[in-house]
Amino acid sequence: MNIRKILDEDNFVYKKKYGQNFLIDTNILDNIIKTSEISSKTLVIEIGVGAAALTKRLCQKAKFVLGYEIDEQLKKPLGQILDEYENCEVIFDDFLKRNIKSDIKKYEYEDIMVIANLPYYITTPIITKFVEEKIDVSKIVVMVQNEVANRFSAKTGTKDYGSLSVFLNYYFDIKKAFFVSRNSFYPRPNVDSAVVVLMRKEKRMKICDENIFFKLVKDSFKQKRKTLKNNLKGYNCEIISNVLEKHRKTLDFRAENITIDEFAEISNAIAKQ
Ligand code: SAM
Repeated sequence: MNIRKILDEDNFVYKKKYGQNFLIDTNILDNIIKTSEISSKTLVIEIGVGAAALTKRLCQKAKFVLGYEIDEQLKKPLGQILDEYENCEVIFDDFLKRNIKSDIKKYEYEDIMVIANLPYYITTPIITKFVEEKIDVSKIVVMVQNEVANRFSAKTGTKDYGSLSVFLNYYFDIKKAFFVSRNSFYPRPNVDSAVVVLMRKEKRMKICDENIFFKLVKDSFKQKRKTLKNNLKGYNCEIISNVLEKHRKTLDFRAENITIDEFAEISNAIAKQ
């Protein structure tokens, strides 16, 4: 079945505002499946079903695939394309507005994975949503813009290291799996992409109060070029200095030079004050 032909017959209009760059390279699609290591007991959540090139492959491996698609114009062609799969449901709605816990309640599964070629304009809110709603996801395999992939996995002291890296690396072990050229999509986007794997950390460092930790990290990176002293006005500087001293650092350092463990230690000291 030729997906492009089905879309053409339906006079489908590709919508830039929804980040509609569909994957057309079958090698890349196969590689995503291989990298994901889905089991027959896995519930897969896919955000942005598009023309279901990935969805079909996911259905062949997973127990069930729950897909989300914002574009109602895809309802008819998707009905045709996914007709042969019984282990699949597509919810036509804005994923960011959904209550994931209640959407997945009716399914039985052993683990949940998120596998998707994400709409790039909302990459961060989508991943953050899983963390904030405390969805017990074992693995996230996502296609994102290449430079965003670098930020996800950035190490302390590098230019890509920011609050997003700290936040995500607190929950996940992250690795960039492979690079994907812009030529692998239709329509062709202006940027290259990469597939990133986020594995839930079995053992996370102990944090007394996650709200304090995340606020501290966000505030520390508020103005990236400024020092901690400037970004953390209003905090108890003595407490922060005492922790930093142990690591031979001071408030004159920038946030990009503070490790996740150090942020955790500072936030625990603040929580205990
Ligand atoms: N999975 C398909 C593929 O790999 O070819 C399509 C990927 S395309 C990059 C992103 C898809 O996400 C589009 O089909 C777009 O309509 C959909 N999308 C965009 N915003 C969305 C949202 N807020 N909720 C659900 N789907 C969304």
